[in-house]
Amino acid sequence: MNLIPPGETIGILGGGQLGRMIALAAANLGYRCHVYAPEPDAIAADVCAASTCADWADSAALERFMAACAVITYEFENVPVAALAGEGRMFPPVRALEVAQDRVHEKRFAEELGGRAAPWAAVDTAADFAAAVARIGMPGIVKTRRDGYDGKGQWRIMDAGAAAAFALPGAGLVYEGFVAFEHEFSVILVRGADGDVRFWDSADNAHRHGILARSTVPAPPAILAQVAEARGLARKVADALGYVGVLTLEFFATADGPVFNEMAPRVHNSGHWTIEGALTSQFENHVRAICGLPLGSTQLAARGVVMDNLIGDDAHDWPAILSDPANHLHLYGKAAVRPGRKMGHVTRLVL
Ligand code: AMP
Repeated sequence: MNLIPPGETIGILGGGQLGRMIALAAANLGYRCHVYAPEPDAIAADVCAASTCADWADSAALERFMAACAVITYEFENVPVAALAGEGRMFPPVRALEVAQDRVHEKRFAEELGGRAAPWAAVDTAADFAAAVARIGMPGIVKTRRDGYDGKGQWRIMDAGAAAAFALPGAGLVYEGFVAFEHEFSVILVRGADGDVRFWDSADNAHRHGILARSTVPAPPAILAQVAEARGLARKVADALGYVGVLTLEFFATADGPVFNEMAPRVHNSGHWTIEGALTSQFENHVRAICGLPLGSTQLAARGVVMDNLIGDDAHDWPAILSDPANHLHLYGKAAVRPGRKMGHVTRLVL
């Protein structure tokens, strides 16, 4: 891949907070960003030099956008891949998106590389569902194969009564056994075009209602003991995909070791702490990787870091948050507050 020098334009597919924070990091390195998003109030566009508001299916708009950019990345996993096939200036590669967009593909991919997922079965019909429950047991979770995020598109099946009452929302599902985990953690790495791989410390991730609430670094010993094995899988995934950029794998820490949950071929909410808490943030290293620059150190910049998401009404607490000078407040500029919507985050370093 070519070196993209500062001053050039980075294209970002998707207009949410991840794109916004990539654009802010890119600006620090002297790049311009052009965001492409279907929503007219894309919060990433607020901090970009240029923006295109157009549908994912608008191939003419997509072509014009790509022609205006030296390199293209994405912050949103559900970008339709058909329009991007063969685009050699896209990092992470299109193949990573294809794998991560479908829970069945990503589980198979991880298992083929030696990773362990919760027992699972693809479900398209009521008969598939009955067979999956019989083989895997309960409790379990039905998830949509595609387009799920933040616990959306998931149904918990706690017992036989719930299974009997469950009406399939359609085809394209997966049933997976419920994992009795002690903790959840993520492995976030950056891989450069030359194959150089660096890992950030793994955060202990606490979720509420399927949404990340808090990431804490360092993680407790029960997680730390499993990080090496989890990193091994993450590195294999990155190498197998010829990956360039930041990659996230989420795991459950169980008594039997790390269980792979899912991957995100992008910067991740559980890495927001790296903005203040690491020598180089996930956003800056993503930009460095996709532009062919040397990677920065992923080392911790403090003894510990805690990142809390501001979800829905939490963001109204910004005056109280700012009244403590140790807090780093990030608000994403979203106009509409909705329950469950990520409005910002706050980071505290343990010095
Ligand atoms: P996901 O969208 O797959 O990351 O699921 C969202 C959250 O639901 C996870 O972070 C877990 O807290 C929980 N969850 C998902 N799958 C399972 C599972 N198989 N067993 C137990 N909890 C799960």
